[in-house]
Amino acid sequence: MQRVTRVAELRVWRRTAAEPVGFVPTMGYLHDGHLALVRRARAECAAVVTSIFVNPTQFGPQEDFATYPRDLDRDLALLAAEGVDLVFAPDVGEVYPPGFQTWVEVSELSRPLEGAFRPGHFRGVATVVLKLFNMVQPNRAYFGQKDAQQARIIEQMVRDLDLPITIVTVPTVREADGLALSSRNVYLSAAERQAALVISRALRAVAARWAAGERDAAELRQVLRDILATEPSVRPDYATVADLRTLVEIEGRVTPPALVAVAARVGRTRLIDNVVLGEWLT
Ligand code: AMP
Repeated sequence: MQRVTRVAELRVWRRTAAEPVGFVPTMGYLHDGHLALVRRARAECAAVVTSIFVNPTQFGPQEDFATYPRDLDRDLALLAAEGVDLVFAPDVGEVYPPGFQTWVEVSELSRPLEGAFRPGHFRGVATVVLKLFNMVQPNRAYFGQKDAQQARIIEQMVRDLDLPITIVTVPTVREADGLALSSRNVYLSAAERQAALVISRALRAVAARWAAGERDAAELRQVLRDILATEPSVRPDYATVADLRTLVEIEGRVTPPALVAVAARVGRTRLIDNVVLGEWLT
């Protein structure tokens, strides 16, 4: 496995790489969710690139950029064991040199859900992902359904900007008790982690009601919110049912695919999770 920090080195590798090249962008501190993306890429592509870059422009001023967990040596060992061909781990200055001033905004899809609580977040995400795409020039790129709005925004950007890249969305990997894997789970105390289980429990209950034939958005939202309310230490930013295509909250009858999405604060940690009713868009 090759490890590079400079775009120039990446380009040298890319010139002779076997295609299709699969790309898995990450912020590191890898867990089995990230590795599910890597395994899917490994199964589908002749060469696999993973990036590890904690992108400062997607963090708000009060957010956890400085304290975001990092462990590059461990990440490199995990990726080598998965048969990754190249790891791109640039410094901030390599991605954002002095004078940087060009931004990508996927306007509509960035407004609801996370966008309403994290102003500028998706501008940072779309910008860094487009830059990474231009650096790596992958044929296929892999994203987690755990960050469903992010995946939708990248799909839209690829379409709007005519990028010759296939976006693959991979189902969320969970702990045995339902908690969605996240690098930020390390912030949780044992009690907070226990309380946080209410999120996946509430999502599962909505999926079960959907499977049993419930189609009324208000009813499904109520199931979600009632279960979340049983854990007062878990404080939702939003808990809703949205159209997966537009990410706009659904009123009335739900037609698939729909996104049941939750963001909630548990202590100082902000967690997001979701389930899709129906199939992810193709
Ligand atoms: P991050 O390092 O948090 O930026 O995540 C990198 C990629 O891994 C993103 O596409 C995430 O959606 C994906 N990812 C994170 N957690 C999970 C999970 N539990 N299951 C599947 N994919 C995930």
